[in-house]
Amino acid sequence: MNPWVIEAPAAVAAAAAGIAAYGAAYPRAQLFGETVCRTNSARKLALTFDDGPNPAITPKLLDLLDRYKAKATFFLIGRYVRECPELVQETVARGHEVGNHTELHPNLFRLNPTKVRVELRLCHDAIRGVLGAPPKWFRPPFGMRNPWVIPAARELGYRTVMWTVIPGDWREKPAEWLIPRMQSIADHAQQKLGNGSNTAASGTGDVLCLHDGGHRDLNADRSRTLAALEHWLPRWRDLGLEFVTIGEAVSTPAP
Ligand SMILES: [Zn+2]
Repeated sequence: MNPWVIEAPAAVAAAAAGIAAYGAAYPRAQLFGETVCRTNSARKLALTFDDGPNPAITPKLLDLLDRYKAKATFFLIGRYVRECPELVQETVARGHEVGNHTELHPNLFRLNPTKVRVELRLCHDAIRGVLGAPPKWFRPPFGMRNPWVIPAARELGYRTVMWTVIPGDWREKPAEWLIPRMQSIADHAQQKLGNGSNTAASGTGDVLCLHDGGHRDLNADRSRTLAALEHWLPRWRDLGLEFVTIGEAVSTPAP
């Protein structure tokens, strides 16, 4: 018998599993539904912060962002929203956007459609209860999707937001380790904005994924994330980057 006849199903299954893994985990994969991964202009950098609100870090981060007139998007965990409603209100009052990051931060890849919907719905209701209106943006925990995650988000009116740069600030590493892992943003700005080049033609700015909270516990230490931003915000600004929310990154006209 032709060995291909025997091996084909296994090969097809392996290939399918590989494609599914790509669609589930690769940040810019569109296999399981359309996502936002870039801003509409090389001049716009979208700063995003996951796993808050975090009373130990978010207030300091808001002050740091104010210093550079930076607006950002915060993907919130529902159970923390219920614990720190005033911090969520303050975040929005200071010009930032918030998004849904599920109620308990599970790996959605492993959940059935009903459980996925419950995770999104609980966080949706928590944010709506605090702000009076639900957010427009959703980010899956760990970036993990399956075929029903993005449709479930869409049912609630969300666009799903991924990233181009994820330096790994949840790791127990010093700021000296983290800072070079954000260098690519400066490199992109220099390539795209330097020498009077046409920004519209290369109009795809970065979306940076950092963390102001920790999904295991409230009050996670993210001081290294703050230190890395203290380093980069003035440098990125001097390169001509503007710090925008996801709404500004996709909706308003490119400069
Ligand atoms: Zn997260």
